Parts: sequence; C-alpha cells; structure tokens
Amino acid sequence: MSAPLLSTHGLVARYGDFQALYGVDIEVAAGEIVALIGANGAGKSTLLKSVMGLLPVAPDMVRLDGRPVGGSQPYRMVSAGVAIVPEGRRLFAGMSVEDNLRVAVDHAARAEGGGWTLDKVFGLFPMLREKRSTPVQSLSGGQQQMVAIGRALLNQPRLLLCDEISLGLAPKVVREIYQSIPSISQAGTAIILVEQDVGLAQSASDRLYCMLEGRVTLTGRSSETSRDAIGAAYFGAS
Ligand code: ATP
Repeated sequence: MSAPLLSTHGLVARYGDFQALYGVDIEVAAGEIVALIGANGAGKSTLLKSVMGLLPVAPDMVRLDGRPVGGSQPYRMVSAGVAIVPEGRRLFAGMSVEDNLRVAVDHAARAEGGGWTLDKVFGLFPMLREKRSTPVQSLSGGQQQMVAIGRALLNQPRLLLCDEISLGLAPKVVREIYQSIPSISQAGTAIILVEQDVGLAQSASDRLYCMLEGRVTLTGRSSETSRDAIGAAYFGAS
C-alpha cells in the first residue's frame, strides 16, 4: 500500500513552556477533503502550522508521501506541494487582486498540483477577474478570502491547508466559497479544512477529525459520524 499524502505521528508542538499538541496522529490521502473541528484553543491552527513548517517539530512527526518533513522551512513545504490559506488571509495591502495572485504564480504549473493558472483561478472565482485591478483592501471579506485561496492554489499544492476560511463572512459568501471546494479537490488537491462551523465542515468533507485540548478525540467518515458523537468529542463529555 502506498503511503498517505500527509501523515502526522505522535505530533507534539509547544509555544515555549506551553504544550499545545499531545501526540496527534492524522492522515490525509491524495485528493481527500478532511475537516479538522474543535473548540477555540483545541490546537487546530497549531496542527496546520506544524505541518507547514511554521513551528519547530521533529522530522518524523510529519511525513509527506511517507518521507519525514517535520520542521522543514515553509518555503520547502511549498515546493513539496503544501500551501496554506492562513487565518486572517494575510494579503498584501496596497496591491491589486492580480498582483496578490501573481506573487505566487512564479511556480511552474504542475499538473499533479492541479495545474493552476491565473485563468483557472478566475474560472473558480469569476468575481476576481472583474476586480483584478482593484486594491485588495477595497474588496469585501469574502472576496479577500477568494484571493487568499487563489494565491495558495497558484503554488500548485497537492495539499491545501485552510484555516477558518468562513470566519466572519456572511452565509451567502460562505456558501460561494465552499462551492469551490469540490472543484479544488477534483483538480487533484487534497484539503484540510479547519472549521468552527461543525455542520459546514461535516457536509464539505470526506472525513473528519475532532480535537480537544491538543488531542484527537474522534475520527471517522463525515457522512457516517453522528452529531452526538461529534458533540461528545468536541466538548469532552464521557
Ligand atoms: P482557534 O479557533 O482559537 O484558532 P485552535 O484550535 O486553532 O483555536 P490554536 O490556535 O492551535 O487553537 O491554539 C492551541 C493552544 O495554543 C491554545 O491554548 C492557544 O492559547 C495556544 N497558543 C496558540 N498560539 C500561541 C502562541 N503564539 N503562543 C502561546 N500560546 C499559543
């Protein structure tokens, strides 16, 4: 059997003296959509940061295609096919939509990473084509989120890490953004969705992991996992 695209093995992460992850094991297969749910402070963003090389972790704790990559520099993770849509979007203010996207477009389009081009991103989010010359700070929150997703896709990821992409957005915009998720995975990119909205996460994903206080408390196929089981894992009821 071939190795999963991503796996973590007893992943431990700390901020100074504070331990945020206590031995987390997850797996993501190629093209799979995996939701990561859990209350504030459960460790979801820390897990994404650990995978992306933004926190120091041991090499063996994060594997890509079965190879140890834990603690690699973030730019190396991008080259290896991992991209992140960070919490808060982190766009380049003062630059247009197109220039924000072009920051990432230098990477040669790799078929295995979806072969994303500016045109394909505009196909996914037509609004961005209309607004291509607009400075990003003049866009709505939802449109900015589309730019952040487009920028990450132009890195040709085989794995896209999305940190709370629905946060603070109107339901209609959230629907619009989530409608793009199946197209992204069909183009060959696996996705980890960190979501506060459990219903949304469950309906958009193939599998889910629930975290509580730095540990995975539940995993299963999203369509087969009951709300009761999620509730118990989310709040730690025994
Ligand atoms: P949220 O939805 O609030 O982002 P989360 O599940 O993503 O929740 P994390 O952000 O991963 O949680 O935080 C996990 C724990 O690590 C929390 O207790 C948080 O206070 C702590 N933490 C996060 N970032 C830092 C930091 N830079 N320094 C110290 N502690 C941190």
